[in-house]
Amino acid sequence: MKHSKTTLLLSALVLLAASFISCTNKNTSPKNIIFLIGDGMGVAHITAALTTGGSLNLERMPVGGLITTYSSNEYVTDSAAGGTALACGEKTNNGMVGMRPDTTAMESVLDVAESMNWATGLVATCKITHATPASFDANVPSRNNYNDIAKQMADTKAEVLFGGGIENFVPSRVPGSRRKDELDLLAKLAETHQVVTTAEGFNALATPLRAVALLDSGHIATSDKREISLSAMSTKALDILSQDKDGFFLMIEGSQIDWECHDNNSEGTIRETLDFDDAVGVIMDWAEQHPGTLVIVTADHETGGYSLLDGSVADKTITKTHYSTGNHSGVMVPILAYGPGAELFGGIHDNTHVGKTLKCLILE
Ligand code: MG
Ligand code: ZN
Repeated sequence: MKHSKTTLLLSALVLLAASFISCTNKNTSPKNIIFLIGDGMGVAHITAALTTGGSLNLERMPVGGLITTYSSNEYVTDSAAGGTALACGEKTNNGMVGMRPDTTAMESVLDVAESMNWATGLVATCKITHATPASFDANVPSRNNYNDIAKQMADTKAEVLFGGGIENFVPSRVPGSRRKDELDLLAKLAETHQVVTTAEGFNALATPLRAVALLDSGHIATSDKREISLSAMSTKALDILSQDKDGFFLMIEGSQIDWECHDNNSEGTIRETLDFDDAVGVIMDWAEQHPGTLVIVTADHETGGYSLLDGSVADKTITKTHYSTGNHSGVMVPILAYGPGAELFGGIHDNTHVGKTLKCLILE
């Protein structure tokens, strides 16, 4: 089709106007953003937790929607591509962290928050170098490059890193190290952050401006065996980050919902989802006391093709479940929101909408 000059001019005007449309269309930019990710948490997982728990903190979030999860190259995403879409606002190939399919690095919402002088933090119950947290603070072509991710994270701008994964931060001479070199990344982090590697050390942490807690050699234990709960880590992260008057961005991951689903363990799925919901409670308590705080809860994908086939609301039991896969599925996942800008996440969106909108809200 041949474009007339008028059509071209109109197109240019529309593009120009679009670039001036704010992400909120209101003066309701959040001062703080807390982003909770339940890895693998679909609608059935939340339903099972609600049935057995009787009520959920998730119910305190007034805005709800659904997001797609497919990646650049697969209908069923993995946590690297899923996390990258949420963190950076663009899709990539499965396995890639904070990079486009052509391996160019992307800015994450954490990077954007730091550029605006916000304090930032990542809290997870897996290795801090694992795909979901790494999507916010590393750029690597393969999620399996844990040592490269650790090396990048040793230069982090984030004020808070809480999770597991000591094994990728200590030199190869240290027993249990998975590094192939003699880099002592914990010592490097200790130049800028208070660093603790034990539960006792964590409990003794006051409120430094910058802290790293790596609480296990690899992943942290399951929620029933954990010395420091996800809620306790979340509380400490809030204490530290809220000292920054410019505002803060905090990502908290319930990392192990996904793993219980890979194992097709319904009890474990419910346990980890309820544990994640406890952290949502801590965050919602804080957000309700601190107006201007946007809270988002979503998942990177659904895991297990989990379905609930019988149970009793009165008895708070689930009596028949089914997993259609030991892997992830391609269904949309829920997104819940509270606070200024929450309405932007209502309805059906692509997963990239989340990262894009969070960046826009911080820059606004
Ligand atoms: Mg994860
Ligand atoms: Zn998974």
